[in-house]
Amino acid sequence: MQPPVYLDTNATAPLAPEVRAAMEPWLQSVPANPASVHRHGQRARAAVEAARSQVASLLGDTHEVIFTSGGTEADNLAIWSQLGWPPCGHLLISSIEHPAILEPAAALEGLGVEVTRVTVGADGSVDVAAVGAAFRPETRLVSVMAANNEVGTVQPIAEIAALAKAHGVPLHCDAVQAAAWYDLAEIACGADLLSLSGHKIGGPPGIGALAVRPGLHVEPILRGGGQQRDLRPGTEPTALIVGFGAACARVADLRVGQNARIAALTDRLAAAIVASVPDAHLTVSGPRLPNTLHLCFAGCDANELVARLDLDGVAASAGSACHSGVPHPSAVLAAMGIAADLAAGALRLSLGYHTTEQEIERSAPIVAAAVQAVRTAALPARAVPADGARGNT
Ligand code: PLP
Repeated sequence: MQPPVYLDTNATAPLAPEVRAAMEPWLQSVPANPASVHRHGQRARAAVEAARSQVASLLGDTHEVIFTSGGTEADNLAIWSQLGWPPCGHLLISSIEHPAILEPAAALEGLGVEVTRVTVGADGSVDVAAVGAAFRPETRLVSVMAANNEVGTVQPIAEIAALAKAHGVPLHCDAVQAAAWYDLAEIACGADLLSLSGHKIGGPPGIGALAVRPGLHVEPILRGGGQQRDLRPGTEPTALIVGFGAACARVADLRVGQNARIAALTDRLAAAIVASVPDAHLTVSGPRLPNTLHLCFAGCDANELVARLDLDGVAASAGSACHSGVPHPSAVLAAMGIAADLAAGALRLSLGYHTTEQEIERSAPIVAAAVQAVRTAALPARAVPADGARGNT
């Protein structure tokens, strides 16, 4: 029996062997609090600062790096830190941001902040003219993601950055999904704040960073022991940070050579699936992440499809949540104007640096057969995970 094909890298990428090796010494029994003054602490401090340099280097050494518990915390820190306390003013975001932006924005709205959610076109691209028209004198932050986690659309960050600069408003960019695939230094040169996450780039989960342009004030959201210049207090997790730094260094090395290979494999997978399922709807026609293939299949329940694929040896994601059998079409697909019945059959296949040609050749017929099977026959009842077991990845 062949091992399953993992096509859910946008949810989390496999831990890279060199990352694991870098972390290993810090997972041994050596105590490693970087705030301790003794030699153990000093060694840990040196490792943390070396990793901080590796992360900063991925961004072209233009930003200061604040380690966080991941992309969610980095997004929250970016948003809450710029709206003041008590929060006030105006926040400008896109309508297809990750919930780590959408939900703090909604919470801030409840506290009196005005929020504009700029729509996207049918191609999933943020409407730059609408962003330009939405600025107000009281706008305190613009936040637009570099690449969407669900459908993989890539946003015109350089144009939005130019608008933000012209209005004197800081720009935050959630680069969590873009980090493995694009030159972050290019994105960073227009953004004042950037969010990153370790586990999307071959690092461990539970670690990420908010990169901040020097001179921009960041109001902390946590209070505590003074670590990281009080901007994000809490004992720095040395092993996770070392792993994150190693993952950034690895991505910087791999990206240039691997990007074209993965893009070609993604295109090949798309072509093979469409050849077998001619009515498959390719969700994104414009620029998209090289590793992300999003499709919609009419008359095919997405959760049944993912369950069937799992049984057949392909790990994928529905890309649209369905709680207790009641379909909630994805907000991203709705924003792109995709009809609810088509959106109910959404499938995200996301490749990684680990993906091989053989795996893609194996997966395409499995996907086509699974679509056919789900369309024609009901699967035996399968437990739907409780809401708490789900997350938006
Ligand atoms: N932002 C985007 C675009 C994401 O895809 C994710 C994770 O799916 C996050 C933020 C949250 O990152 P983390 O899982 O590290 O909290």
